[in-house]
Amino acid sequence: MALNEIAASLYAWDLHDEGIDHALDVLASRAEVNSAYLVGLMHKEKRPLHARFYPHNPVRRYYTPEDSRAYWLPDPSKYGRIRPMTSERDFLKGTDWLQVLIDGARARGMRTGCEISHTVIDAVLARESYQDVLQRDVFGNVVGAFEAVEAQRALPCLNNPDIREYLVALFADIATNYDVDYVQTCLVMFGAGRDDGGTHAFGPSAWQQLLSVATGGCFCTSCESKARAEDLDWTAMVSEIRHLANLSKRIGLDSLHERQLLDDANYGESTLLIENEAFMAWLHFRKRSITELFARVKEALSGSGRDVEFRYNTYMASPERAGLDFKSAFVHVDSVRESDYSDQLGTPEGVAIKRAKLMKCRRALNEDQKLIAALGVRPNATPETLRGSVKAAVDSGCDGLSLGHYDGATMERLDAVREGLREWEGQERDWQPRPAT
Ligand SMILES: [Zn+2]
Repeated sequence: MALNEIAASLYAWDLHDEGIDHALDVLASRAEVNSAYLVGLMHKEKRPLHARFYPHNPVRRYYTPEDSRAYWLPDPSKYGRIRPMTSERDFLKGTDWLQVLIDGARARGMRTGCEISHTVIDAVLARESYQDVLQRDVFGNVVGAFEAVEAQRALPCLNNPDIREYLVALFADIATNYDVDYVQTCLVMFGAGRDDGGTHAFGPSAWQQLLSVATGGCFCTSCESKARAEDLDWTAMVSEIRHLANLSKRIGLDSLHERQLLDDANYGESTLLIENEAFMAWLHFRKRSITELFARVKEALSGSGRDVEFRYNTYMASPERAGLDFKSAFVHVDSVRESDYSDQLGTPEGVAIKRAKLMKCRRALNEDQKLIAALGVRPNATPETLRGSVKAAVDSGCDGLSLGHYDGATMERLDAVREGLREWEGQERDWQPRPAT
């Protein structure tokens, strides 16, 4: 298939600092970008992410965004109890940055999109005002994302009715009120737990990682009600998973002893799943919850009356540990952006990781669903790995590329995208008869 769509993401502060026209002209001329999207709801994450400082921002060296702010002008009539927060920074507030992006992109004949990124509620606000909607682990602690709970992150529960309403409203608001071709999301799902160490000589093994899912979410009252409504034995689930979480975290001498036996044993993922039926039932319960959410989002986009693609943006190496089963959830998407950035390892092995993730996505999609390969156009990638990544996209039946992210990109890396497209004959114009001599 041809790599027809070449997308690139922009942040509101990029548009303020550099100007939409300059950014899009650079992207189109160097990397043949023909699709631009705003990271419209962005979590707190220092930008640029990997490099210490921006390579080409004319105004500032780096930026630390507020948590989970919307950079469009939300339509209050779409929302219920929970509404998106907008920026309080003087240089950003009051401007409809999504409209700025759309105007610039449409003037160039580009596709347009908006991303709802990892988190959708400011964690401080959530901890102050929305304690009841937050994910809980089996011990009742609030579940965070990416880092320790002590860092005061907080994840809402996707089974909470107010959160469901809020999420669906975000998609409906953008699709109804803006001229976008796609709404993309890499929303963080159920807390996937983490294996917090011990003395693994070679990193945690597969069963140890699966065991650590028992330390994730969610065990809130919304999850309990939903599980009981599905006739699941919630009491058995909580009891079994608490035991597994104790094993994972080595809580108590009996658990520590059992964990030491398991670590010394020839134990595996299949044994863990077969012997813990309630744990397996809980994993399937989370999977059904996420698949249902995908269906609701798709309905919301369709309900806008406009033809707006639902694009899922992957963010985890093992999404099933967060409840996302590609095969069942992807029934409800129009396209997938595989957001692997292993090209930034700068090695052929990194490109091989990307190729494998693309193959996993492609296998779960139907012929009429598009797969878009992300490319990390930042300094840790090399022109060689980026051209190799274009080959990986060609190899795995992709329909496009998506550059992450312009703020950290160098011109040489953007040029490598254009050159890789030619080298690996990624588009129909490369498949033509030789000119007459
Ligand atoms: Zn829950």
